[in-house]
Amino acid sequence: MPNICSLDLPPFAPRGIHARGPVLAHDVVHALDRGELHLAYQPIYRLATGRMTKVEALLRWRRQGVSIAPDEFIPWMEESGAIASVGKWVVESVCRQAASWNEDRTPIRVSFNVSPRQLEAGDFVAMVRQALARTRCAPEWLEVEVTEQGVMRDSGAIGRILAELSDLGIAIAIDDFGAGYSSLARLADLPARSIKLDRALVAGACWEVRRAAVVDSIVNLGRTLDLDVTAEGVEDEHDAAYLSRFEDILVQGFLFSRPVPPDRIPASAA
Ligand code: C2E
Ligand code: CA
Ligand code: CA
Repeated sequence: MPNICSLDLPPFAPRGIHARGPVLAHDVVHALDRGELHLAYQPIYRLATGRMTKVEALLRWRRQGVSIAPDEFIPWMEESGAIASVGKWVVESVCRQAASWNEDRTPIRVSFNVSPRQLEAGDFVAMVRQALARTRCAPEWLEVEVTEQGVMRDSGAIGRILAELSDLGIAIAIDDFGAGYSSLARLADLPARSIKLDRALVAGACWEVRRAAVVDSIVNLGRTLDLDVTAEGVEDEHDAAYLSRFEDILVQGFLFSRPVPPDRIPASAA
């Protein structure tokens, strides 16, 4: 039985990575140059009206014909530093896509994910500004998603960067809300426009009184703070029926649409 500790892992091996790691770590650095990365887009709807209001960009890596999930390769991109160029490519691609979608229709916001490390490396705000200018994308068409875990641990630098992005007109969403340790005081301080209820909290909430009570209070808190609230990971009719009690709720999940290539996003937001 080989000892996992003796595997020849590169010096930047993130914790918890499995045996396929060394291969991925090597290839991940070249994935962008090789044209193996693309973005899938998942619509977000207002449940009460069925109207698509936002779309989330999700990174995909197709390596040797096999699709690898972002949870598996993003830690490697972060550790190797490749995330800087990949993150820049994501921002540019999202800006270009938002500009092309919103040219001649009721605008939708296109959101994209960033890790705290991406925000802190280099001048993230300047990079976004340049991408906006180059692609003629309005900042109001963008939303940056940063996880609750990322912002709650922040000592101040991330909060300042988010404030600068918000000043530009870009919306800030707190992702995976309710998944980890939340500081409600911190939420009040952040320039957030929306929170995204974590899938683990949403799925099956209709069957569990105590979990439903937590969802109720977060949605009400969002309403009080004037934040959009999106329920993530809505997979079945029962969860959707339960969520329909909240008149402003936004929903995202396989029940409505999986992440799809950009040309499968409907041309009209209606
Ligand atoms: P996330 O930001 O929470 O994105 C939502 C994830 O939930 C996506 O997984 C999406 O495919 C999945 N999902 C959506 N609806 C459902 C549903 O009804 N049921 C279930 N079971 N899953 C659903 P994906 O695409 O594998 O992304 C995983 C994570 O990778 C994302 O979680 C995000 O944290 C990260 N990620 C994705 N793209 C990027 C990126 O460009 N940059 C960075 N830094 N992180 C990214
Ligand atoms: Ca997200
Ligand atoms: Ca999420």
